[in-house]
Amino acid sequence: MAEQVDIKSRLEKLSRLVEVSLVLNSTLELEPLLRYIMDAAAEITTSRNASILLMDAKTQELYFMAFDTDDALEVQLQLRRFPVPLHGSVAGAVVLENRPIVINDVSSDPRHYRKADDTSGYQTNSILGIPMRIKDRVIGVLEAVNKIEGNWTPDDENFLEILASQAAVAIENASLVSRLRSAYQELRQLDKMKNDFISIASHELRTPLSVILGYASFLKEEAQGEASEHAEAVLNSAIKMRQIIEDMTNLRHLKIGEGELEQEVVSTSVLMKLAMSDVLSTAEANGHHIDFNFPPDDVRISVDKLRVVMALTNLLNNAVKFSPHPSTIKFYYEEHGQDIWLVVEDQGIGIAREQLERIFEEFYQVEDHMTRRYGGMGLGLSIAKAVALAHKGRIWATSRGTDQGSTFYISFPMLE
Ligand code: ADP
Repeated sequence: MAEQVDIKSRLEKLSRLVEVSLVLNSTLELEPLLRYIMDAAAEITTSRNASILLMDAKTQELYFMAFDTDDALEVQLQLRRFPVPLHGSVAGAVVLENRPIVINDVSSDPRHYRKADDTSGYQTNSILGIPMRIKDRVIGVLEAVNKIEGNWTPDDENFLEILASQAAVAIENASLVSRLRSAYQELRQLDKMKNDFISIASHELRTPLSVILGYASFLKEEAQGEASEHAEAVLNSAIKMRQIIEDMTNLRHLKIGEGELEQEVVSTSVLMKLAMSDVLSTAEANGHHIDFNFPPDDVRISVDKLRVVMALTNLLNNAVKFSPHPSTIKFYYEEHGQDIWLVVEDQGIGIAREQLERIFEEFYQVEDHMTRRYGGMGLGLSIAKAVALAHKGRIWATSRGTDQGSTFYISFPMLE
């Protein structure tokens, strides 16, 4: 009869363990998870309480992560993050020896760490401590505390070992998720700070800059000889600065969705001509020749005109900027099925294969910021990419490598 009761209770505990394992696999919130593990540990070992101690991966110190008592909240609070020495505590011995430790009477055991009881006011009588492992690494200890009746049994030990192995994985997953969450929050915060900073800086710079521009052009007209040259130098620098501020302000274009586009049906050649007229004078001033081939007027696309011209202008400006010697820049179109590709091809400094994707990232520049020869903010291509994607188009680059020139493609769906 006693044997039957024994089997029944074992079966009940085993089916409880199966239930517990299902819950553990699906819980990613750390707090409820810890509570659940401790409740289950006390229940399957018929003990009053349970506690979880974890190893700090950085400092390799052991500390109480959670302690479960129904009656004394202050005990839980007192023990939270309470450090426990590796030498001179039961949990420490479990970690160091990497095996279960069964103590039916802590009063006669020198390993018991009395300071925890003294601090919390809780009276520990017996402990069953099991290592929690991930592969061979001990990440902490699961303890059942104060057996309700009699001594710990081999079943208590076996069941708690099963629970501890699943608890280890569940706790590790939940801690990873919580670390990922805080890293994500931090990144969002940084991103917001960056955007706030840029919008404040660009706004604050604009006003003094327009004063400088105004005075410099006035001086350039009025002054004679050398003074006029100096005024011109000031004016040119101020114009460059205005371009940088313009780029910063254009950051908002990075976030455009399809809904924000002001689409209209336009002839592709008109878009290409507008973009070319934006850069022609700079290109010629640098000794470049633009070799163009525009499509017939009836090749039309439905796009946000201003934004597409901005994207094309960015590509053309880059071709000029990254071609240090006078050369030919090609600007042409190709039809591929339902798509039209607009292509900017230069003979400039080229791009290494491993950089061809990264250059479209916000603020990414191949050259180191400290040793840069070419100006810019690293935004032109990411803006062009955002424009292409918002139109369900694509953008990509090819290059045979350093000093072999680059070709940029931007494609849009053509109208029937
Ligand atoms: P910026 O030109 O302001 O640096 P972009 O986003 O337009 O920013 O370009 C990002 C980077 O991609 C540039 O800094 C440069 O390293 C590389 N790049 C872009 N266009 C070219 C090109 N035509 N030839 C060589 N490198 C280029």
